[in-house]
Amino acid sequence: MYTDSHTSDQAQHYVDIMLEHMPLGVALYDAQDLRLLTANALMLTFLDANLDPSWRNGRTIGHPVTDWLPEAIAPGLVAICRVVAETGTTYCIDEYTFDSPGRGTTYWKWTLDPVRDSSGRVTQLLQVVSPVTGQVLARQKAEQAHAALRQTNRAVEAERKRLEVIETVARSVRDSLDTESIGRAAVEAISTSFNPIAVHIHVADPVQQALRLLHIHSISGSEETLAFLKYVPYDSPLPVAQAHKGRDPIIIEDMQSAVVSGMIASNHPLATLIKIPSFICVPLWFKDHFEGTLAAIFRGSIHPDGPEVQTLVGCSMHIAAALAHARLHAAVENERARLWAVLDQLPEGVFLTEASDGRISYANAAATDILGVPPTSSIGVRPSRPSQSLPITDLSGQPIPPENFATTRALSGETISGREEIVTRLDGSQVVLLSSAAPLRTERGTITGAVTVFQDITERKSVEQHKNAFLSIASHELRTPITTIQGLAEILQMHLAHGQSLDTPRSLRAITDICEQSQRLTRLIEEMLDISRIENARLLLNLAPHDLLGTLSQVIESQAIISKHHRIPLVLAGLQETDTLIGTFDEDRIVQVVNNLLSNAIKYSPTGGDIEVGLRYTQDRPYEALIWVKDHGVGIAADELPHIFERFFRASNFDRSISGLGIGLYLVNELVTRHGGRVWAESSEGSGSTFFVLLPLNNPP
Ligand code: ADP
Repeated sequence: MYTDSHTSDQAQHYVDIMLEHMPLGVALYDAQDLRLLTANALMLTFLDANLDPSWRNGRTIGHPVTDWLPEAIAPGLVAICRVVAETGTTYCIDEYTFDSPGRGTTYWKWTLDPVRDSSGRVTQLLQVVSPVTGQVLARQKAEQAHAALRQTNRAVEAERKRLEVIETVARSVRDSLDTESIGRAAVEAISTSFNPIAVHIHVADPVQQALRLLHIHSISGSEETLAFLKYVPYDSPLPVAQAHKGRDPIIIEDMQSAVVSGMIASNHPLATLIKIPSFICVPLWFKDHFEGTLAAIFRGSIHPDGPEVQTLVGCSMHIAAALAHARLHAAVENERARLWAVLDQLPEGVFLTEASDGRISYANAAATDILGVPPTSSIGVRPSRPSQSLPITDLSGQPIPPENFATTRALSGETISGREEIVTRLDGSQVVLLSSAAPLRTERGTITGAVTVFQDITERKSVEQHKNAFLSIASHELRTPITTIQGLAEILQMHLAHGQSLDTPRSLRAITDICEQSQRLTRLIEEMLDISRIENARLLLNLAPHDLLGTLSQVIESQAIISKHHRIPLVLAGLQETDTLIGTFDEDRIVQVVNNLLSNAIKYSPTGGDIEVGLRYTQDRPYEALIWVKDHGVGIAADELPHIFERFFRASNFDRSISGLGIGLYLVNELVTRHGGRVWAESSEGSGSTFFVLLPLNNPP
């Protein structure tokens, strides 16, 4: 018994020790009257903090909570106790804030558990409180840290989005050289990322002193309501126009307050035309050039430091740069097109070669024409590549290697001027060029390319060659009659010195020969003089009415006397021998023309034969007459026929002993043309030629 009671006392003692020292506050209440039956020290301390001093230090034990709890909390706590007692369910508060003057704010978890007797009736209520201040503070700190982190994340996210939009805009406008696509790309990139009410870009037109709408994206405004944005003069009150006066964006953070505060007049287009919550207009400056404006209308209010403003300002630099780039590119293209148009008019061939790859980047019309290549096929060709260039030789026929081409030399910094060279065209024909080339340099002196200019001097060269040939022939042609005259005159002189008569047949023939040779000499000199008269525009016609048939008959008669091996019949068409055909012409010159044709016909028919001179006149064409001279001589090769009227030209098929200067037909052509007529020839090599002269009869005197 003793032992039992001793043991029981001992156990109670231990329980008391445990209750006093455990880190939990424990209290037991009567479930009926809510009397505090017992409480350990920690619970008493917990309760004391809220109690009137008279109830502190355990004086509450044995008294119902309604007696000692402060009025402010008593009803709540009593209600909780009643619910637990009646329902038998545990009540628990995880985090009870407890302010005590000495210990500040502490946090407690407390539970109210029903205690049942053996019959299951709730007889007591067990209150347990445990301090959770440490956990709560730690949690609060964690929550604060989390909130701070969330905020930082939000800021980072906003910055990331800003950079992303700027990057998207930059990327979409960067490679475009076309202003319209820059506007579209930028507006689309901004509106997709921000979803504003409207975004629009204007480009500056400094000449018209106005801004032109480049592109707009708007979710609300119809074309009509936005028509006022299409063309905005610089002096308009719209912010789009005002923005060009400065470099800072115009920001209306909140339209209503702006109108209320008087910052924006209530009748301002912005305030009246659309319901605009907030607005930003960024001037687009590239260096010192105002390119236009970028503007956006947002759904809510905006802030100068906010993401919308920061992003638009960020985008504006890229858009301004792209617009400037496009503007400069267009200006360069314009200049280039103008230059190309001018160069295409030049008779000289011009091409430009790029230093970077040695390719031809431009060739004008004359260049492709002279070189005989299709208009576009020279672009991209590298003249320095033997496989891509036409063969070029110097005038002596020595090939010029590509590294010595004028263009190649110019690309390495040399200026080549007036170089004569022969190019063989694709069709095998040759053209003589006078080429010059010079390097193209930047301001700093870097060679960016070369310009090559060349002219086709084939004709000039051939005239030069013919002229040279002419001079040597002419001196020979002049010397021959002079030598003959001189020789014959000396013979006659000797005859006289020997007292011989000049009335002998030999002397008389010598005198006739002297006369003929002098006439030949006179004719040669006259023809040469005519050439110079033509060149100096001093060959004048002495036009007067004459009988063309009579003139022709006279020429034939005098030629027939000279020519011993040829018959010269006159063939008339539409005329009788007794007719007269009056026309207005320079008789001497027409005699010269027919004489020339006749003497050629005689000269180039060395084996003799008939030479037909014809004259046709028809009533259908009473204003003209056709003369022809037809021989059966050596003829003219088809490829030389087109050249026979050129100055100094002589065909290659005849015996070189046949004298001539290559100027007769040139004069014939000039004289007939000056009469308003036309001369041409038909011929086949070996079987004779026919020369035709179509002469107008009604030239005004
Ligand atoms: P040329 O003094 O050489 O005769 P022309 O100017 O009169 O000069 O003629 C030019 C060239 O045309 C001549 O050299 C000759 O080759 C050719 N020619 C002119 N007339 C005839 C002809 N009747 N038959 C053949 N060839 C001719």
